Order: sequence, then C-alpha cells, then structure tokens
Amino acid sequence: MSFYEALKDAASLAKKVDNIELYQKLLDLQAQALDIQSDNSEKQKRINELESEISRLKEVQKINAEDVVQDTNYPFFTLESEGNKIKYCSNCWRNNGKIVQFSSPNGVHRMCPMCNTSYLSRTR
Ligand SMILES: [Zn+2]
Repeated sequence: MSFYEALKDAASLAKKVDNIELYQKLLDLQAQALDIQSDNSEKQKRINELESEISRLKEVQKINAEDVVQDTNYPFFTLESEGNKIKYCSNCWRNNGKIVQFSSPNGVHRMCPMCNTSYLSRTR
C-alpha cells in the first residue's frame, strides 16, 4: 500500500468515527502527499534526462580527436586505434555526437541506420 493510499484509508476511518478534526488533518496530508508525488515524478524525469545526457557524453569522450581519420570524399570517419577498419557516420557524429557504425545491407551499398546517409563502397 502506498503512502497516499494509507492516508486515504486513515481519512476514511477518521470520517467513520466522526473525528472531523483528524479527518481534516488527514485530508491536508493527502494533498501534501500528492504534491510530493508530483514533485518526485518531475525529479525522476529530470534524472532520466541527465542520465541520457551522461551516456551521450561518455560516447563522445570515447573518441580522441587525434585518433580520428576523416576522408573528405566519404561520409564516414575511422579510428587509427582500430586500424581504420570500422566506418562511423560523420553526419551523426558532427550533429549529435553519436557514434554510429555504417551497415552494409549488400556488399557495395553502405548506410547509416540512424540518419540514412549512404555511400557506395567500391573502393573503401
Ligand atoms: Zn548517421
């Protein structure tokens, strides 16, 4: 039983035994409990937003700018530390700080699953 439900039950009991003063106090507490519940809900929402931002920043931090290899002829960048093997979407990185790997639905056509940027990988 939640705190709010317990207060509601207590208020019902106070009403049954005809204790108006107690009943009024419990109604006040009920109202305060609702305010606290609403406030907690807003704080939880803010915590979720901040956790999401922390995750994004951790992703951004993973990449050391000196490690990035950008070929201006293609919409991707690679990392020297990975032997330039994995191709990441430059568009998602630049605009959202997201590290998204290109997928290759068929051998030649590569596409970013987040922003749909695509290119033909005949040579790379
Ligand atoms: Zn992308």
